Amino acid sequence: MTPTISKLIWLAFGVGWFVLRMQPRRRARQTPVRYSGRGVREYVLLAASLAGLGIIPFVYIVAHFPRFADYPFIPVLSYLGIAVDVACLWLFHRTHRDLGQNWSVSLDVRDRHTLVTTGVYALMRHPMYAGFWLMAVAQVLLLPNWIAGAAGLVGFGILYFGRVGREEEMMIAAFGDEYRSYMRRTARVVPWFH
Ligand code: SAH
Repeated sequence: MTPTISKLIWLAFGVGWFVLRMQPRRRARQTPVRYSGRGVREYVLLAASLAGLGIIPFVYIVAHFPRFADYPFIPVLSYLGIAVDVACLWLFHRTHRDLGQNWSVSLDVRDRHTLVTTGVYALMRHPMYAGFWLMAVAQVLLLPNWIAGAAGLVGFGILYFGRVGREEEMMIAAFGDEYRSYMRRTARVVPWFH
């Protein structure tokens, strides 16, 4: 394992994630929306996440910037990063399968939205966000640079903490007691950790 291979692995998982989302993205465009909570705030949160998980590490890989924040490469961390990224892709695959047409990149309620409480959604309310947390942890493990590595945790953290409460309020407005009782049965993002 070398730093270059580790960086290429980060890139390969990013491409894998993008490919995995192509079909859900296409389907989402064709599925009518009943209520949308999108607005400037949502786009700022999405931009923060994209910058932290995508743009900043990509610039680091192609331009080796910011070089001053490099630290010595530790191969075992890369191997751990691969394991975390495999778990992350598996979780994305499962969440997209469970959510089906209800998925959206932002805060939307579809015309024929159903509340999903089975599969990975029986364990936690936000398994897709758990997948993004794993992606951010893998980034720390794969990139030996304090800024590029940690950017994912910061960028996705901004999206997560800025959105999750509003998303749950939106789901309560759409599903009422059904969602409230689902909340009582499940953890937010860490299974069994209520
Ligand atoms: N927060 C979830 C879903 C992310 S996708 C997760 O981390 O897995 C965001 C969209 O999913 C939101 O627009 C919301 O309408 C929808 N959503 C969130 N939880 C849902 C659920 N349990 N069932 C159906 N749709 C859900």
